[in-house]
Amino acid sequence: MIDFVELKKQITMRDVLSALTWRPQYTIADEHRGYCPICEAGKSGRRQKQKFGFGANVAKQVFNCNRCGSHGNALDLYLRVQGQPIYQAAKELCERLRVPVPVLERQFGKRLCDRIVSTRTHE
Ligand SMILES: [Zn+2]
Repeated sequence: MIDFVELKKQITMRDVLSALTWRPQYTIADEHRGYCPICEAGKSGRRQKQKFGFGANVAKQVFNCNRCGSHGNALDLYLRVQGQPIYQAAKELCERLRVPVPVLERQFGKRLCDRIVSTRTHE
């Protein structure tokens, strides 16, 4: 079992954009805008700002596309673009980013440990 809660904490929007080799057409503060890697709106044709419905915010770790209506977090973006089963896509993403795949072993015990550890590190 992959620990998706942990994975979402480890994977940033920047990581996913680089794994997808997506480059913004322009950037406003933390918002990167360009063609949509899911529906590909704005990928071809004239390069006009209003053609790009897709935006990824690297501070808020979210994306949205006003053409196809896709939105979500960094991991959601990768899953939508790759269109693979979640387990396979998550494993592949970790391999590309060279991060270990977080694994859920004993759910309750592990969660509790994580909570204790993270509480301590935030103090
Ligand atoms: Zn789209």
